[in-house]
Amino acid sequence: MPLSLNPSVVALPLSTRRRRGFTLIELLVVVAIIGMLAALLLPALARARQRARAIQCLSNLKQLGFGCALYESDNHDALPETSHQHASWIGMLAAYGLTNVYVCPLDTNRARISSYAINDFLTPHPFGAPQLDFSRLTALPAPSDTMHLAEARGDYLGSDHFHFADAQSGGYTPLSFASQVAVALHQGGANYLFADGHAAALPWLQVRLLLAPTATRFVRPAGSPTD
Ligand SMILES: [Zn+2]
Repeated sequence: MPLSLNPSVVALPLSTRRRRGFTLIELLVVVAIIGMLAALLLPALARARQRARAIQCLSNLKQLGFGCALYESDNHDALPETSHQHASWIGMLAAYGLTNVYVCPLDTNRARISSYAINDFLTPHPFGAPQLDFSRLTALPAPSDTMHLAEARGDYLGSDHFHFADAQSGGYTPLSFASQVAVALHQGGANYLFADGHAAALPWLQVRLLLAPTATRFVRPAGSPTD
């Protein structure tokens, strides 16, 4: 017989029926379940937020890559300049309407204009080396292998370009590279713009291998420390 047809229940006056709320135990169980769900979800949410910021940063670099391409096509393949030359690439690319793409969302240094800096090997005669001049796209043996812009560390004071060409201050050994570039900012990696305009997120473990003094064009376009 269905419960609702039980005469003893139906006959009970409304005022005498017990109004049943949650017991303390039930409430504690619900609170514990919510706590467990939150503990499971919060790290996933934090990771999703980190990923969103890394994607935003990568998108900044891709847009800066478009800006570089426009500048190069207007200037006979010359790459944008740094503060060592006439003007900084930051202002040069801003002239192409790029104004909101210079700051990585995770950059802790809010005092500077740009989170990104140029590989100084792609400027004319870095550190006065007369034989080096990779400041034109056409002078680069493999533009898709050579890093153009990278993320500067929060405490890097070298303005709009890095100092990788200066062998006296460590050149681009992994130690010197990591003292200038925020190599592990985005979950153990960082974003890089290459001279051909493509941007990539690379883990520090992979970049360390690309910093070998020979047989890689990642920092030094010639691929060898002697030419
Ligand atoms: Zn970033």
